[in-house]
Parts: sequence; C-alpha cells; structure tokens
Amino acid sequence: MGTLKKIKAVLPPPLAHMVGDGFRVHNFFPSQDIIGLKGMSPFFLMDYGSKRILPPSEKPKGVGVHPHRGFETVTIAYQGSVAHHDSAGNSGVIHQGDVQWMTAGAGVLHKEYHEKEFSARGGPFQMVQLWVNLPAKFKMTPAKYQAIENRAMGKAVLPGKSGYVEVIAGDYMDVKGPASTFTPVNMFNAVIEEGGKAGFTFPAGFNTGLLVVEGEIRLNEEKTADENNFVYFGNQGEEIVIGALKKSKVLILSGEPINEPVAAYGPFVMNTDAEIQEAFNDYYEGKFGYLED
Ligand code: MN
Repeated sequence: MGTLKKIKAVLPPPLAHMVGDGFRVHNFFPSQDIIGLKGMSPFFLMDYGSKRILPPSEKPKGVGVHPHRGFETVTIAYQGSVAHHDSAGNSGVIHQGDVQWMTAGAGVLHKEYHEKEFSARGGPFQMVQLWVNLPAKFKMTPAKYQAIENRAMGKAVLPGKSGYVEVIAGDYMDVKGPASTFTPVNMFNAVIEEGGKAGFTFPAGFNTGLLVVEGEIRLNEEKTADENNFVYFGNQGEEIVIGALKKSKVLILSGEPINEPVAAYGPFVMNTDAEIQEAFNDYYEGKFGYLED
C-alpha cells in the first residue's frame, strides 16, 4: 500500500448551461478555477449532463455541425441514446452504458443529437462528455472513431461481492480497457454495492478525479461525496478507497499530465495562439471536410 491521495475538493455541480438545444450540462472543468486549464490534464474538459427526464420530441435535439481539432471527445451515455455523424465518414449510436471515443486530431466536423427513437419516446437522460487533450506530436493525427459498446469493456469483479469495475481505458486489476489512447489514460466506471468497498492505485503525479454518477460515497474514510459531485485529488499519494454509503456508480479518471502549453478557443485545443488562428483559417477554407446538417 502506498499513501492515500489527498482530496483537494468535493465540488457540487456548477450551474448548468445548454450545449446546442439538447445537452444541459454542468462544466466541472476547465471553467472552475481550482482545476483550470491544466489541473486535470490530459483531460481538458468535462461536461456532465445530470439525470433529467427528456420530454418526447419528434425532431431530435442536440448540437449541429461543428469542428474540432487537437484533442479527442469521449461521450459516455449513462441513460438514453446519442447519435453521432462526422466528416470522416464515421457515425454511430451509443445506448445506455456505451461510449464513443472520437479522435478529432487534425480536424473533423461532427454533429451530436439524441438518437431518433429515443428522442421520440423521451425518458431519462444522463451523460458525460470529456475532451481528452493530445500532445503536440499527435495533434494533427488523422481523425478516428472508436465505438465502445458496454459489453466490450473490461470487467473486474470486486472482492467480497462489492460490485465490479468497467474498464473503458487503461487497466484495473490486470483487466484492460478497449479504448486506444495517445497518452496514459485510466477511465473506469465502478459500480459498488451499498456497504461495499473498492481501492484504486494511480501514480502520485497523475491527475485524478471522480464523478459520483449515482449514489453516495465515502472517500479515504475522510470525506463524503454525494450524487453529481466531482471529487478532485491532489498530486500526492497513490491510493483511493471508495466506500459506498448507498449502491453507487462512480466515473474514475486518472491520467499522465501533458506538460505543454495550452491554447484553447471554442472547439479547438492547441499549443499556441498561432495554431488556433490556423485552425480557424483551415476550417473556413473547408479543410475539415463536409458534413450535411
Ligand atoms: Mn462536439
């Protein structure tokens, strides 16, 4: 056993805002000063759509065609279904428990909507979108799309019938996740039964945080985090112990920081302002391809 990771903050969800007309999200970072632009690197942004009931809509809501460059978007559907189309010719629908991992790299146009049938039906919707930054040497990598169905995820069973851990990326107790990543990234969903416990070990220098997607947890026998709270750890210590006060689902993020300058504007995350300008120029010149709205 190493030492326990320091808990820097337990953050309640910030005021929600709309992304397009379909995604009502709480931005845990980079908008909160305690985390900032680099505090969770390689994770640059986290938008959390807390659980809400969507009324039925014949016309699917969401975000129309828009560009990205320099990073990856990772969307996790906890409830409901999301459809994706991009100018690299990839498309897909993710349902409850699935993940889509899109590498924007050199540039892509995409659109993100509630899936048609789900939209028509309405119902509970809960999702997370993460932007995972790319180091300079991979920012201009060709666009790529990984559809990660829930059943393709690694699954580690916790001892003592405490629950299980789904591994999306990285590895936990020798179980590997299916996502291919450009830098070391761990992304897990831990499902822990009431009274159950799970331990996690990450290098001290990795930036680490977790979101209580469901339930209520006790951390390191020190602090309590409620549903929809994000817990931000410091870069001291290696161990995290999660005790479930109720049956809980927890999204766990830990990754090796990318120690490079960050220049971010709108849909682009680059290293310099000149590269942001270049991204806008390339976008206006049609270099990101074409996608019908
Ligand atoms: Mn997008």
